[in-house]
Amino acid sequence: MTNCTFAEINSALRENERFAVLGHVRPDGDALGSQLALALSLKQLGKDVRVWNEDGMLEKYSFLPRAELLTKPPAGPEDVDVAIALDTAIQNRLGTALEVIGSAKIWINIDHHPSNPGYGDLVYIDSTAPATGQILFELIKSERLPIDHAIAENLYVAISTDTGSFQYPNTTARTFEIAAELVRLGVDVGSVSQQVYENFPRRRVELLRELLRTMRFEGKGRVASFSLSLKTAAELAVIPEDNEGLIDHLRAIRGVIVAVFFEELADGKVRVSMRSKNERVDVCAICQKFGGGGHTLAAGARIRGMLAEVEERVLKAICDVVDCNS
Ligand code: 5GP
Ligand code: MN
Repeated sequence: MTNCTFAEINSALRENERFAVLGHVRPDGDALGSQLALALSLKQLGKDVRVWNEDGMLEKYSFLPRAELLTKPPAGPEDVDVAIALDTAIQNRLGTALEVIGSAKIWINIDHHPSNPGYGDLVYIDSTAPATGQILFELIKSERLPIDHAIAENLYVAISTDTGSFQYPNTTARTFEIAAELVRLGVDVGSVSQQVYENFPRRRVELLRELLRTMRFEGKGRVASFSLSLKTAAELAVIPEDNEGLIDHLRAIRGVIVAVFFEELADGKVRVSMRSKNERVDVCAICQKFGGGGHTLAAGARIRGMLAEVEERVLKAICDVVDCNS
């Protein structure tokens, strides 16, 4: 499947009036930063823009410039000319926002997930980009769309969070060039980094303490996992966003190739988050066996079943791939 051009997206943006800018459920910094950045650029073009995410703005990203623009979708249907899905590998991960869009004339799909099937009318998927925010920067630059300090800061957070603060292997020279341009547009690296990485509520660290109690290793230490039950989550009064990134503590262990986080959900499913440190171990492929998806080195799935039972099934599937016996 071939991508459309930035010029085609540009025409759709400039020639229409009413937009909905959407991102995936359980949003991360890339989804929220990308949504706000593109929405702000469209607003500067004088467009009528809605910015909807099923989960609304997360507390921890509420420092993002113009964060108040991003809301939960309304209850009833709303007409727009153009609906734009950002950072959303599969259309149903738009959640309730999808149901609200009545009759968009044009669907635009901009993403960096290799598993994205390319839904929509104008599709631009670059799986080499470390963040959707990086693709948006290229779009804005190439089509001379508006960019200012607020847009730059949203893009910077999108790129910083999806590259693990410029550490993951998907970080390229181009990523640093873009970061430099964003800094020149006024992004204060120290202050933004502090807000993203050093401003967690205490309950997140208390959650980490409980997760580490459940930590286990399979396959001669190549597979590390921990899990969160509904009971523990309730006792600690954690909210879903608290666990973003905690899996990195498992990934950071010497000898670990695959890190897994299991989270029991209220709907009878288990949310599985997976990370790989080795390009030859494709966790997206493993998650796809369970109906999920993502990237080679970071993927996830929602699997029906009891926590303990899902853990065993998934760990076995990983061990089959990682070759835990050698
Ligand atoms: P995380 O582990 O941070 O929730 O997600 C890691 C990556 O896997 C993200 O890029 C995300 O889009 C993808 N991902 C997570 N959960 C799911 C899922 O249930 N389905 C699909 N298709 N992708 C997922
Ligand atoms: Mn992303």
